[in-house]
Amino acid sequence: MCFKTMTKTFLLAITLIFIAGCSAQNEINNGSTKNQETEMFNGKALPKNVCNVIRDGGTEAAFTGKYWDHHENGVYKCVACESVLFSSETKYDSGSGWPSFYDVLVNGNVKKKNDFSFGMKRIEVLCNKCEAHLGHLFDDGPNPTGLRYCINSASLDFVADEK
Ligand SMILES: [Zn+2]
Repeated sequence: MCFKTMTKTFLLAITLIFIAGCSAQNEINNGSTKNQETEMFNGKALPKNVCNVIRDGGTEAAFTGKYWDHHENGVYKCVACESVLFSSETKYDSGSGWPSFYDVLVNGNVKKKNDFSFGMKRIEVLCNKCEAHLGHLFDDGPNPTGLRYCINSASLDFVADEK
């Protein structure tokens, strides 16, 4: 290999390393903004913030989830197992900052459990199929049920009606 070819190869290598470094940097930036860090729930990799809610019973901050101000027609499924949980037909604006429903879509797909955490007596709402924590049930909802299913957006996956 002559000296000229070696220089060329060297420069090419430096350029490639530089490009690779730049794209790796972009991936890191995208990763942090999209929050792509995942954790496992029932053998499925899900974003860390989702696992924090459905697995650890956490609550997302009010007015931050993707569905509290969402008004499309369709169904809301469990983010972990895709079980059908709620419908846009019973979704209403509770002013709480969390998606609120006055009824479930399919009886039996949502499970209720007493929750005595934080010194309060509340009713926890879970997915009946995979036990993902969804939110809590309150009795200050509108007619006809008087119920308010206060659900974390992180626990839900919206599927729009076909038009
Ligand atoms: Zn589920």
